[in-house]
Amino acid sequence: MKINGFTLKYSPEELAHKVNEQMRPVVLIDQNHEAFQNLKDGDKKALQYLVNAAKIMNDVALELDHPMNLVQKQALEVAAADSAYAADALKLFNSLNGVAGHNGIDPEPVEIFEGIHLLKGGNFYPQDLSEEELHRILHQMLDQNKVDEVRLILSARTIVRREGDELKAIDYTEYFADEFSEIANELECAAHYATDDLFKDYLGWQAQAFLQNNPQMDILADKHWAKMQDTALEFTVSRENYDDQMTPTIFSNELLKNRLEKLHIAPVPKDKIGIRVGIVNAAGTELLLQFKDEMRQLAGLMPRAEQYHQSVGADKDLKQTMVDVDIIALTGDYAMCRGGITLAQNLPNNDKPALAHGGGRRNVYHRQVRLSRDEEKIHKILQGLVAPQFHQYYDEEADHLFTIGHENGHTLGPDSSYQTAVGIYQHIIEEHKADVIAAAMMPEYVKAGIISEEQLKKIYATWIIKRHLPLAYPKDGEAHRMADLLEYNYLAKHNVVWFDDDKKLHMDFALMPSVCRKMLGDIIDVQLAKSPAAAKAYIDQYGQWSDILEYVSVFKKKLGVKPYIDIQMFF
Ligand SMILES: [Zn+2]
Repeated sequence: MKINGFTLKYSPEELAHKVNEQMRPVVLIDQNHEAFQNLKDGDKKALQYLVNAAKIMNDVALELDHPMNLVQKQALEVAAADSAYAADALKLFNSLNGVAGHNGIDPEPVEIFEGIHLLKGGNFYPQDLSEEELHRILHQMLDQNKVDEVRLILSARTIVRREGDELKAIDYTEYFADEFSEIANELECAAHYATDDLFKDYLGWQAQAFLQNNPQMDILADKHWAKMQDTALEFTVSRENYDDQMTPTIFSNELLKNRLEKLHIAPVPKDKIGIRVGIVNAAGTELLLQFKDEMRQLAGLMPRAEQYHQSVGADKDLKQTMVDVDIIALTGDYAMCRGGITLAQNLPNNDKPALAHGGGRRNVYHRQVRLSRDEEKIHKILQGLVAPQFHQYYDEEADHLFTIGHENGHTLGPDSSYQTAVGIYQHIIEEHKADVIAAAMMPEYVKAGIISEEQLKKIYATWIIKRHLPLAYPKDGEAHRMADLLEYNYLAKHNVVWFDDDKKLHMDFALMPSVCRKMLGDIIDVQLAKSPAAAKAYIDQYGQWSDILEYVSVFKKKLGVKPYIDIQMFF
């Protein structure tokens, strides 16, 4: 079957299997949910406009991701009307929110159509531009003193296209002028109805940021967004650059890297955009704030703390808001569920200028994502892979507590200049750092009386069982999964975890704190070295695959893996 001239790559049976056996729902809240029912009328009205904005942004994200996304989606929607085969392909498309993407299990990307491939540079760069050519053209443009042009090409908010034998950058606000103007309209309508002054204010700034080709407006919008702690509604424009695999190659080219450094040009990978809409949950938020109260003290306990500046200083307010949110809409980058779906997110990321301009961060936890779990599969994993005495310690709530520690961990440690200096390894090392801060610092929360000794054991056990038992060897770009593998191997090497003759997992809770602290010290050393080679050496040492991990992965795959997600939205 051809869709817009392209043959579907999977057979009807293969697609039906993916969609019916390998896809799990994440059910967002509907209008009957008490969180929505309890809102003031103005906020209820505002939400509808915010959801409209979210839906428009989905098309923007599709365009950023792949040049064929929008046209293939449209063709699939037409074909799906009278073909079950095409309807299944459309479901897979909507789960990836794109024509191609990794599913977190298979080494090769899932590509829905023959001849349409996953692109290293997304649609940020010309499809036929190789890494070598990009580097060569940048050198050539610098030779001709086109410093400002190069600066824009390497900005997070531009699309790069060919112009003769050179490249040119187009700002997102120009490339997406129509969509951004519609979104700004929706935000202004929402601001009119919303009841909270800070929230209205933020929406006003965010609308302006979509209308003006001016990074200063992003800074202002980000700053207003991050400071809201007590508002009823959540609206986020996420800008994250994990998917651009092209720009970071510059960090591995010493000559070009040094040349850019002398010109004060910092290459930043391109942003993918997503929108999240929701309602703040009061009880969940209260727990987060208890964790937050410990952060300043934790900063002082970080390894080599005297060697770097941390964004959490003992002398100033912690500019960090945190909310637990009942989710109404996830679109764009949020809905590109490629090997997983985000449980929580702390923005802006370190590459965003708002942080250097006195702005704070806002950490948002996704209730409906963490509430969606496959109990039956968890039971089978415990039975098949974990020694019986540890089953009692597996607890999803403990995983949530670990996630809080992880998110707070991103705020601790060496600043972004250290993080980006390890080049293509930066996300792996940074996610690894956040995980290990969560684990290493967790005993401090016990001391503070926020969690119990029993909960601490559950947090450790759930961390290892849920995250360290791999489904597959992680692809290089999969920062979280590679971090999991590094952690498992580190713990195994230090006798904290092991498998018995029956291939069942054991763990030594008493050894955990000291080994995690040692691991954290090693990670901070890698960041302080500012060297991709040091990062690579660390990853090579602890990123190894082994027979037992292969056994675990085969076991888990047999359970019927559900790598695809169907986000169910009701607004
Ligand atoms: Zn993280």
